Amino acid sequence: MFIFTIDKNIFRCIFNKKRGAMENKIKEINHLDNENRTKELKKILEDNNIRLSHQRLLILDYLVLNHNHPSAEKIYTDLKKVDPVISQATVYNTLNLLTDKRIIRELDFNMVSKRYEFSKQSHGHFICEECESIIDFNVKEQDIPEELKDYDIHTVEIVYRGICHNCKKKTS
Ligand SMILES: [Zn+2]
Ligand SMILES: [Zn+2]
Repeated sequence: MFIFTIDKNIFRCIFNKKRGAMENKIKEINHLDNENRTKELKKILEDNNIRLSHQRLLILDYLVLNHNHPSAEKIYTDLKKVDPVISQATVYNTLNLLTDKRIIRELDFNMVSKRYEFSKQSHGHFICEECESIIDFNVKEQDIPEELKDYDIHTVEIVYRGICHNCKKKTS
């Protein structure tokens, strides 16, 4: 059976028109080799007046390379394998700092934990209610509803909830 729910209460929209230039830059970073990617990420930190540190770079790079909207715990567990001295506090503090500077996005979908992603193109999210995976999908820029035309819209978020393809296979 195909289960698909769109909860109107969470049907908010995403678009931040000012972000266009940054988005294009970000798309390029993903395709760079390690050395050039590190160079670009250092520049992002510098441009945002964030003091450079090996661990900050490591966390940012992790988010650039992992598009599965990881939680802070997941980031910490994975990075601990690469850098055994990294602390949970460093991961949390860095995520907060990068979120404040809008370099990454914190996603709060009322799940067990908040999730993080490296800011990129406007996109919608599908959340699986079974396995809690979050999947990106492209959305076309939408017209601002007539009722809101005198408002300043900063962000538009689109969230679909339901059961993902994998979980559907498991139950059928
Ligand atoms: Zn699932
Ligand atoms: Zn996303």
